[in-house]
Amino acid sequence: MIELRSDTFTQPTPAMLAAMTSAPLGDDGYGEDPTVNRLEALAAQRLGKEAACLMPSGTMANLACLLAHAPRGSSAVVGAESDIYLYEAAGASVCGGVGYQPVGNRPDGTLDLDDLAAAYPDEPADPQFAVPAVVCLENTQNRCGGVLVPLAHHAAVAAWARERGVSVHLDGARIFNAAVGLGVTVSEVAADADSVQFCLSKGLSAPIGSMVAGSAGVITRVRRVRKMLGGNMRQAGVIAAAGIVALDEMVDRLAEDHANARRLADGIAAVPGLALEAPPQTNIVLFTVTDPRYTWSTLISAAQAHGVALYPFGHGRIRAATHSGVGPADIDRALEILAKVMA
Ligand SMILES: *Cc1c(COP(=O)(O)O)cnc(C)c1O
Repeated sequence: MIELRSDTFTQPTPAMLAAMTSAPLGDDGYGEDPTVNRLEALAAQRLGKEAACLMPSGTMANLACLLAHAPRGSSAVVGAESDIYLYEAAGASVCGGVGYQPVGNRPDGTLDLDDLAAAYPDEPADPQFAVPAVVCLENTQNRCGGVLVPLAHHAAVAAWARERGVSVHLDGARIFNAAVGLGVTVSEVAADADSVQFCLSKGLSAPIGSMVAGSAGVITRVRRVRKMLGGNMRQAGVIAAAGIVALDEMVDRLAEDHANARRLADGIAAVPGLALEAPPQTNIVLFTVTDPRYTWSTLISAAQAHGVALYPFGHGRIRAATHSGVGPADIDRALEILAKVMA
């Protein structure tokens, strides 16, 4: 199977598995796992923040950040096409009594700034209104096609937030794809955010884990929420060891995933009956079926039967994500299969 559903299908590398079996371990509940402490220091340094905290998943990382910023009865401003709003089971609302205030995502992944302005109550002291406590950015923006959100947009949203005493959270599940794609350091991508989460378990290919980075004060609050959510782990150095390898060895190669996505997109554009949404900016390719013999769902089934796994992605679109488990030869083979299915 050529696995293109998601970059979460990446397998740990041999170097990760070796690091996991030899890592020094301790009880991270006591702050005494030396491997976790090393990963947290490394992540904080790479992100240009004071502190960082290992989390079991990106979903818990986002939730812990939202609850760290937003008191019960406040609201979190989120993109209508964001992972936090669509794919995280309304956790901030369920666990924290925080309302979601969706604002539109433009096709380029940015938040619609007019919607954002309208999301803030004209008279915040009026007890009728929930007061926004945090605004969430996502870079790269997954549902808009793994697009690179310009850093000027981060700055504009952060300026809006600072004026109103609102915190800025960045869902940087694929922040390293963003840094590689934008040609900047990851700390530049993170600069305008009070908290950032990124996934070790996607393109970086570690088996488990996400990191939250931010100021020491934010991370202290995140650790408390992590404990409350049951995400406080013990000999978590087993996980952290793979995360260290991910940060040391798996960042620069993301450019290969981006090149493979372009190779796939060029091929899809040439297959009659398939239509590319837009040229990919990172590792995510979105396309639709225009041939009336197929719907998105029957095409996904037919491709799967011939050895290519694709993912339904809303609005009738199909997603293919490239990652360390697929090389150029797999892409060419996937294109042959798609051409055969459409013939
Ligand atoms: C994958 C993803 C998450 C959640 O990460 P999990 O580890 O799967 O919980 C959050 N945000 C974005 C944009 C993602 O792509």
